[in-house]
Amino acid sequence: MKRSELVRRLAKVHGFSDPRADLEQVMTPPEAAATLLEAALQRGDLEGRSVLDLGCGTGILAVGAALLGAGEVEGVDVDPGAVAVAQRNASDCAGANVTFRTGDVADAGRSVDTVLMNPPFGAQRAHADRSFWTTALGSARRAVYAFALADSRTFIEQRAVEHFARIESTEPVRWDLPATFPHHRKRRVEIAVDLWVLSVGRSSDDRNRDL
Ligand code: SAH
Repeated sequence: MKRSELVRRLAKVHGFSDPRADLEQVMTPPEAAATLLEAALQRGDLEGRSVLDLGCGTGILAVGAALLGAGEVEGVDVDPGAVAVAQRNASDCAGANVTFRTGDVADAGRSVDTVLMNPPFGAQRAHADRSFWTTALGSARRAVYAFALADSRTFIEQRAVEHFARIESTEPVRWDLPATFPHHRKRRVEIAVDLWVLSVGRSSDDRNRDL
């Protein structure tokens, strides 16, 4: 699928019906979601792979993974309202075969090939992203693709060391944040966000042999 077609389909994903500030419910911008999904596809971590989307929210990453040929895809979010939106997005998006369930990310760990996530950035609750990284790096057999604020670099580098994960890349992505919560005073702001790619459990030589 061409990038323009992927972005067009992701732009149809419905946003949160009543976004919760305490859970930092901000939908991944379609362009950023496409960048994450294309990176995973190119590295062989999507097509036919089992995928877990942590803090799936609207389901944009999980639905996009299914559109690009992922195998079994599951999305987990603590908010039943978000899960309902995600389910609707999957059924509106013909061909997106995804299971969504309500649950806390701390209990959502299971063995999958690839974890995708746009976790809370910790703006409302410090370290809200900590359990996301623990579950992600404990669940992925191959790789984790995640967004994080640029000032979280040291924190993520430490998590990578703890879990014997290898940082494959850290790339700034364009992230326009539209006013979402009452405390957002400007109509939109651009925030400094990185896309992280971490490989887990296998050396890059193994990966190259697979390609
Ligand atoms: N990836 C989604 C949502 C990003 S916002 C999208 O792009 O639409 C972060 C999401 O994490 C929110 O939907 C929020 O409800 C969820 N969340 C926050 N804390 C959580 C927790 N402890 N367990 C599971 N989900 C959580």
